[in-house]
Amino acid sequence: MHIFLKAIKHYYKKEISRCQSCSMPLIYDKQHLGGNIYCSYCHDGESFINNGMTLGDMQQKVDHLLRSRHSHIIIRIYIYLRLATLKRWRKL
Ligand SMILES: [Zn+2]
Repeated sequence: MHIFLKAIKHYYKKEISRCQSCSMPLIYDKQHLGGNIYCSYCHDGESFINNGMTLGDMQQKVDHLLRSRHSHIIIRIYIYLRLATLKRWRKL
């Protein structure tokens, strides 16, 4: 049970800290500017680095990266869907 709770805590921490543009956990972003909800690859503190991007572009870009890392298909599907819920892309 203890190991299970530890795993939940780990994934929860990752989930709440995802960049709200590309879904990368901000705990992995060494250049991250404190207080920014976006990672340093997406946002320089003032504006988006790749401003003309659409959700479809980002889904394609991130999936390409995950494929190159041989990520499991379940992870790829999860991230594909998760991207649409991020602040930069969600419509609600
Ligand atoms: Zn990002």
